[in-house]
Amino acid sequence: MSHKDGRIPIRTCVVCREKRQQNELLRIVRTPERQIKFDKTGRMNGRGAYVCDDTVHLDMSDPSAGIDALGRGKLRSALRANLDDTTVKLLDEAIASHLAEQ
Ligand SMILES: [Zn+2]
Repeated sequence: MSHKDGRIPIRTCVVCREKRQQNELLRIVRTPERQIKFDKTGRMNGRGAYVCDDTVHLDMSDPSAGIDALGRGKLRSALRANLDDTTVKLLDEAIASHLAEQ
């Protein structure tokens, strides 16, 4: 997938505040039903937050743990939602399998 027309939207990672092209970020969305989901397509309805699409914000002490504590806190405030353990686990699994596909 290469985009050379320069029209890729720029978004900010909620964890490190780095501005990146949208295709270099993971979108986490709070749906209208107030569920928190990893939005693989980038097109889901709801309030979105972006996180760098690589391992920088993952908890490297445990590869299956997903987003680290700092990232979780930032996501919580960006989405104004409570991330309970079940939600975090589902999110981590979705992100881990996405990264594994790359
Ligand atoms: Zn980042």
